[in-house]
Amino acid sequence: MRSAYKEYYFRGADRIEFPDEVESREFGYIPFGGGMVRHLSFRSKGEALAEILKQSPSSVYCSNARYESPRSPIEEKGWLGAELIFDIDATDIPTACKKGHDLWYCEKCHASGKLPRPPKCTKCGGPSVEFHGTCETCLDAAKVHTNRLVGFLVEDFGVDRGAIRVYFSGNRGYHLHIFDRRFDPLDQQARGEIAEYVQGSSLPLSQSIAATLRRRLPTGPQGAGWARRITGYVGERRQSYEGTLQKLVSEAISSQRAMVDSSVTTDIHRVFRLAGTLHGNTGMSKMRIESTDKFDPQEDPVVLSAKPVSVKAEFYPKFRIRHIDYGPFKAETVELPTYAAVPILTRGLGEVA
Ligand SMILES: [Zn+2]
Ligand SMILES: [Zn+2]
Repeated sequence: MRSAYKEYYFRGADRIEFPDEVESREFGYIPFGGGMVRHLSFRSKGEALAEILKQSPSSVYCSNARYESPRSPIEEKGWLGAELIFDIDATDIPTACKKGHDLWYCEKCHASGKLPRPPKCTKCGGPSVEFHGTCETCLDAAKVHTNRLVGFLVEDFGVDRGAIRVYFSGNRGYHLHIFDRRFDPLDQQARGEIAEYVQGSSLPLSQSIAATLRRRLPTGPQGAGWARRITGYVGERRQSYEGTLQKLVSEAISSQRAMVDSSVTTDIHRVFRLAGTLHGNTGMSKMRIESTDKFDPQEDPVVLSAKPVSVKAEFYPKFRIRHIDYGPFKAETVELPTYAAVPILTRGLGEVA
C-alpha cells in the first residue's frame, strides 16, 4: 500500500495544495501501520512536500489554525486565528437507502448485521465496527447540502464566492474552507452559532413560526436570511398545500437547511486532511472542486493505479467504485485494480495474496 501511495505522491506532487502561511500551520500524519504524529511544522511548502514524499504516509493533515509556535503543545502554541471550516458527510444526512448499504461487522468473526451497531459482536463478543456503503443517492445528498451551505455563506453572511473553497473529503463528503478573514478570530462558541444557523437548529419552533405567519400569510419571500427562505417557501406552496401550516414550516426548514458536522466547525485546534493527499482508508484524493455539478465522486478522486492486485479477502461488504460494484467477499482470493483493493487492505480485512 505504501508503494501505491508513494507512486501517487511522486506522480501527483503538484496536486498537493498548501494553505498560505505554511510556517505557522501545524502538520501531522499517520504512517502505514502506526499512530498519529502531530505538532510538526515546516518552514516552507517545499520542505513540507519533501517530507510527504519521503514518508508517503497513509494520511497527511494540516491545521486551519495559524500559530506562533506550531510545534508546541496545544496550550502553548499561541493561537493566531483559524479559517472557518465546514464538514458535510453523507453519513450524517438521513437518506432512506442507508438501511440497504450501512451495516456493522465483527472484526474477529466477521459476523455482520443491520445498524445500530451493537457495542460488541452479538455472535462472539469481538469488536464491532460500522461500515458505511457508498451510493449515488447519498453522494448526491452531500452535494445538495454543500450547495445549500454555499448559499447561506454567500447570501446570509456576505462571503465572496471566490473565498469559498470546496473540497471532496476523499471519502463520502465535502469540506468547505472559508478564506474570509472576518471569521478567523472567532472562538468556538461563535463558530457553533454559525453551524447552528445553517442547520436551522437555532430557529424558533415551527409551531411558533407558523403562529406568526398565520397573522398575515406570506405570498412571497419577505425579510432576510431564514425569514426570507421560510416565507418564500410557504408563500409559494400555501394555496395548494394539504397539511397544516406548521407542517409546511417544518418542511421549509428541513428542505433548505445544510447538515454540517458542528464538532468540526467548532474545533479550533483541529488538523484536516491536506488537499491533494490521499485518504487513509479509501485511497481516494481529497481534492478541490470547482462545481459540484460537474464533479463525479465515484470517478474523479480515484487516483491510484488500476494495476491488478491479488487480494485474499477475509470479508468485505459490497462496495462501489468507478460505478462498478465489487463484492461482497467472504474468504476468497480476488483480483482487483489497486484502487479497489486499497479499501479492503486498509481495513485489515484482506491481504495481498
Ligand atoms: Zn464476532
Ligand atoms: Zn445511500
